[in-house]
Amino acid sequence: MTQTLAGGFAALELHPAVLTAIAAVGYEEPSPIQSQSIPVILAGHDMIGQAQTGTGKTAAFALPLLSRLDPARREPQILILTPTRELALQVAAAFERYSCEMGGVKVVAVYGGAPMGPQLKALRQGAQIIVATPGRLCDHLRRDEKLLGSVAHLVLDEADEMLKLGFMEDIEFIFEALPESRQTVLFSATLPASIRAIAERNLKSPKHVKIAAKTQTVERIEQAHLMVHADQKPVSVLRLLEVEQFDALIAFVRTKQATLDMAELLERHGYRASALNGDMPQAQRERVIEALKDGSLDIVVATDVAARGLDVPRITHVLNIDMPYDPESYVHRIGRTGRAGRTGRALLLVTPRERRMLQVIERVTGQKVGEIRLPDAETVLEARLQRLANSLRPLLEGADEARGSVCRELCQRLDCTPELLAAALLARQTQGQALDLEGVRREQPLTPAAARERSERPERGERTERSGEPRTRRPLEPLTEGRVRCRTALGKRDGVAAKNLLGAIINEGQLAREAIGRIQVRETFSLIELPEEGLERLLGRLKETRVAGKALRLRRYHED
Ligand code: ADP
Ligand code: MG
Repeated sequence: MTQTLAGGFAALELHPAVLTAIAAVGYEEPSPIQSQSIPVILAGHDMIGQAQTGTGKTAAFALPLLSRLDPARREPQILILTPTRELALQVAAAFERYSCEMGGVKVVAVYGGAPMGPQLKALRQGAQIIVATPGRLCDHLRRDEKLLGSVAHLVLDEADEMLKLGFMEDIEFIFEALPESRQTVLFSATLPASIRAIAERNLKSPKHVKIAAKTQTVERIEQAHLMVHADQKPVSVLRLLEVEQFDALIAFVRTKQATLDMAELLERHGYRASALNGDMPQAQRERVIEALKDGSLDIVVATDVAARGLDVPRITHVLNIDMPYDPESYVHRIGRTGRAGRTGRALLLVTPRERRMLQVIERVTGQKVGEIRLPDAETVLEARLQRLANSLRPLLEGADEARGSVCRELCQRLDCTPELLAAALLARQTQGQALDLEGVRREQPLTPAAARERSERPERGERTERSGEPRTRRPLEPLTEGRVRCRTALGKRDGVAAKNLLGAIINEGQLAREAIGRIQVRETFSLIELPEEGLERLLGRLKETRVAGKALRLRRYHED
């Protein structure tokens, strides 16, 4: 029975309980990396598997290893190393899903940023499968060097990413704590020399399984790029989002600050958006991912590290606001969409200086990334009216019986036409968003800098002022020739006063008092005028500086 249910998997001689679980999950056919890896791993060989993101690597190792697990032995038998805690949690969840019909199988996820106690307890209570990030596992090993003495199978998942995160030494340390007679399987999207070296040292006559770089994942993803100037990115993103029809979208930027700025910008424009970055506490990151999964969030603005391995089938769009550092990360990023056989769309903003990188990406993915243009005001307006009509259509049903007479009554009292009444209500409903061509043309988004300025207000989360009219900002003083403005996120609420900033910059920046111009301390940030000449060096000297116990992190402030 299970055989017919699990379709093409049945031929692979997996454990019957595993086949039942796969059928329940709903996989029909093994993916290429799965059909090639599963027999090799079942036969107990060491293996090097090379395949892109989204090709189903987790099941490729989880299914055969579970099939070889002995649930009656209540000690660690399988160890999976992954680069990040998100991925560790995801892989652990996959093992739980695939083993739910086996009975008596326990999985423990071991990762940093969470207390060690519960993890240790789960280990001692007979978990057979450990899914760990290398750093935290080493911490456990230092306390209990025999911890991994019974492990018979090791998997290095996303090995290239682990090395990029600097886990080389930890991995070697873990290898030493494992029994000689184990099976080792290494998965990696790319095989640079460092990975080959690890394999050489630690794998025994490994079989190679390679799925060509040009995978169905990339093919299922429609790619396009848009040329923009860096300072036009916020406007361009807002315009694009108005016309792109997405379910959930993940946007990539390079810095943690940019995740916050962009998420805030999008929120201010009415999107349900959130940042996802490595500075956020683990629990909060998990909440964001959950919210994206269950549809209470539609946009996540992430850094590469924070989004690694993220698997949310709802994601229809990947928006690369900042260019990735290399083609591999591009492939990783866009692999966040087009999951599990669906199609996805990937958009890339390219500044004039980044044209070369675009060409490299095209060469590596073997695909042309066509150019699109920013939608013009007509298109934006049309999309806006369409959305508005869609959102109002359901309201028309039964509205006449329920409210029709009130409407007439109100028009009489207000001495206005029904059109005028409707227009007034519409203005409130759309919160002042422009619904005419001229208005759309005039629209300026609230840029991150403007948004920061606004965050001075004690009340946050007000959404009444939207993209409508350009906002009036408290203008900044004109700068003295040769000076530039710098910004720190420290302000009054951090207990910082101008004299503290001045003192720190004079002492640690080795700057004369006269060289420092106006200092404005606001609620959540401060602005300081500094000499343009030698600014880079000055900021370098101030890199580690702390004021009122907090990192100063002074940056040049670009007014836009
Ligand atoms: P990778 O590790 O290669 O990036 P994952 O293991 O995270 O890929 O799998 C990507 C997605 O594909 C997951 O949502 C997973 O549930 C789904 N998936 C894996 N194998 C199959 C299959 N044989 N059929 C359908 N979906 C699958
Ligand atoms: Mg994976």
